Amino acid sequence: MFDEGGWNKEDGGEALSQALLTPQRCPAQHCPPAPRGSLQKQRRQLLTTLQRLEASSCAEPPQSPGPLSGDSESESDSADRAGRKQPRKQRRGLKPRAASFPHIAPSGSGAPQAGPEPEPEPAGRRRRKDCAAEAPGDKAHTPNKEPPSRGAATGGPGPVLSRKQWRNKQKNKRRQKNKFKAGVGKDVGQSLGRGQDVEQRTSALPPLELSGALRARMEERLQSARFRYINQQLYTSSSQEAARLFQRDPAAFAIYHRGFTRQVGRWPENPVHRIIQYLRGRPASLVVADFGCGDCKIATSVRNKVHSFDLVALSPRVTVCDMAKVPLADESVDVTVFCLALMGTNLREILEEANRVLRPGGMLKVAEVASRFADIRAFVSAVTQLGFQIVSKDLDNPFFYMFDFSKTGPSRARGKLPGLVLRPCLYKKR
Ligand code: SAH
Repeated sequence: MFDEGGWNKEDGGEALSQALLTPQRCPAQHCPPAPRGSLQKQRRQLLTTLQRLEASSCAEPPQSPGPLSGDSESESDSADRAGRKQPRKQRRGLKPRAASFPHIAPSGSGAPQAGPEPEPEPAGRRRRKDCAAEAPGDKAHTPNKEPPSRGAATGGPGPVLSRKQWRNKQKNKRRQKNKFKAGVGKDVGQSLGRGQDVEQRTSALPPLELSGALRARMEERLQSARFRYINQQLYTSSSQEAARLFQRDPAAFAIYHRGFTRQVGRWPENPVHRIIQYLRGRPASLVVADFGCGDCKIATSVRNKVHSFDLVALSPRVTVCDMAKVPLADESVDVTVFCLALMGTNLREILEEANRVLRPGGMLKVAEVASRFADIRAFVSAVTQLGFQIVSKDLDNPFFYMFDFSKTGPSRARGKLPGLVLRPCLYKKR
């Protein structure tokens, strides 16, 4: 890379260029004194260099109809090709020269720019735009904006275009541009997951509504992704880690719950309603403990005394705690409920806690996502080891299974319980 500082010091270029182009930006103390004669000489040299630079950076001959000479190719293609046809020396020379001069005319100074910043755009068009940007408003540098005159057309190497052909070419060019724009919309849509869908739904909207609709869709996607991420964390960590996760980021809980409600809302039936129905058919005097209560549907739907436990309180009824350690006395409740809430990897600890608070003969009700069960028999057998016996199981629903166990006594389990595993529940991306 050209070292600007070195160049300036050697030949007084900075003083000269500043004096030439941006005199107001050159404080006196930055201008080293130079002999008057040599200054003029340098000034002339610089002007010549600038003129050469300008000429070489716009390599396309202004009046050449060359880029228009093809009949089916798009204008940008032909322009690009014209760029490729430049003598190699010129093309190589263009970049370093332009790059070494920007300090001459800082952008915004109003002085001619030696190396304008090209706008980001498809690579194929860049070279040509550079050229046009250097001579704004100069028709000689933007020959394709006007129909070529016969005289000019005959001057170039390619076949002559009639006015009609030229107009068609412009039309094609516009069509190409529109195609590109539509493509951009499509990309955004596809990144949202339902490209065509979004495009079709949004393309009819005015721009403001369009951006609002896209934003809403993107936010929805983002929330879904966050829900799936939190959900996965809950299923792959212990209940203590889950508690820490929500303590660190309480907002994550709201996102999780919105996602959970939406997912279960798509099921034909919510298992919590079955549990509510069961409790309504039993004496209201039974004391219930709802482990992982969420928004307390059970507590708000039955007459029983319900202890509602969760990691974060969505309602004042909730006692915030880790379900592996609930603030209840031993053998103090009649029914314990885990409705889609056996999430932690420390299942044994959690179910032993349920056993502790249940009175003998009390009921353990479990509803879980069907796909989480790898081996139902092994699971039931392991729970039995924890001081329960199976009363009933309902495997009819394709989304969730339900189990009723009654407490036989304290946990009898010694050593590991390999059957006591549930797969992480991964909700489908929609
Ligand atoms: N039972 C409710 C909510 C199910 S979502 C219903 O069916 O509508 C699972 C719930 O379990 C979530 O609210 C989650 O926060 C809670 N949960 C997960 N791990 C927990 C833990 N270790 N302690 C307490 N609650 C937990």
